[in-house]
Amino acid sequence: MRYLGIEPKRPKIAVVDFTCCEGCELQLANKEETLGPFLGALQVVNFREVSSEKREDYEIALIEGAVSRADETDRLRRIRKQAKVVVAFGSCACYGGVHRMKNAYSLAAANREVYGDKPKDTDLVRPVKEIIPVDLEIPGCPVNKEEVERIVQHLVMEVPYNFPVYPVCVECKQRFTVCRYDLGELCLGPITRAGCGAPCPAGGLGCWGCRGPDADPNYEEFIASAKKRGFGEREIKERMSFFGGFEGVVP
Ligand code: SF4
Ligand code: SF4
Ligand code: SF4
Repeated sequence: MRYLGIEPKRPKIAVVDFTCCEGCELQLANKEETLGPFLGALQVVNFREVSSEKREDYEIALIEGAVSRADETDRLRRIRKQAKVVVAFGSCACYGGVHRMKNAYSLAAANREVYGDKPKDTDLVRPVKEIIPVDLEIPGCPVNKEEVERIVQHLVMEVPYNFPVYPVCVECKQRFTVCRYDLGELCLGPITRAGCGAPCPAGGLGCWGCRGPDADPNYEEFIASAKKRGFGEREIKERMSFFGGFEGVVP
């Protein structure tokens, strides 16, 4: 494949998973109309959902999932040593994701609730950047496949990628969706980074903030405005805590 007369380098890529549901990997694997060209731009050397290769000579590592066990920490450090570019792939890797809810309870209580009398080795849930330096974060639960394809093109061409700086509301209005607030529902669209195409409000659900904050979120105004519309502090807090993207600013 040539682009503008240039033969791309086809970097070697690994897609690896930690504490997650593997839904972000599935996003890459399940869009068949572009899977061929997508894989053609890369050499996939380790990605168990699409290949039986298990090589360790990758240059780019897409890391899916949060960290919640000691052995995962060691594995992450080995990946950082090998990869030139480390990408946190999906909201679990970027923010801890839904698993981060476990941190609100004691580890013993969480273990008891989930595993009963067969406790597992489990630790507080942390995003990848709390363990190793990360070069790029691709948020979303799951990631947006079209956006990942654009980002991979940029990585292959070694051109920086700029995420949208505006909030989900912009994309929501572009598709003429009725605002969830006008229907009496809570929505984090005004403070959440766009790029997903605003599928949740269009599908009948206020935004839950899976992509984390936009470039310049006005939290004070957002929270005051949500309260003015009758939403309580607890409800706002629960919504903002869900994926971990608003850690540190949750009221
Ligand atoms: S970000 Fe969401 S879809 Fe992706 S692995 Fe985590 S839980 Fe699954
Ligand atoms: S539904 Fe949510 S994302 Fe859409 S315009 Fe209203 S607040 Fe913004
Ligand atoms: S609308 Fe909100 S919750 Fe839904 S995909 Fe976009 S950022 Fe995530």
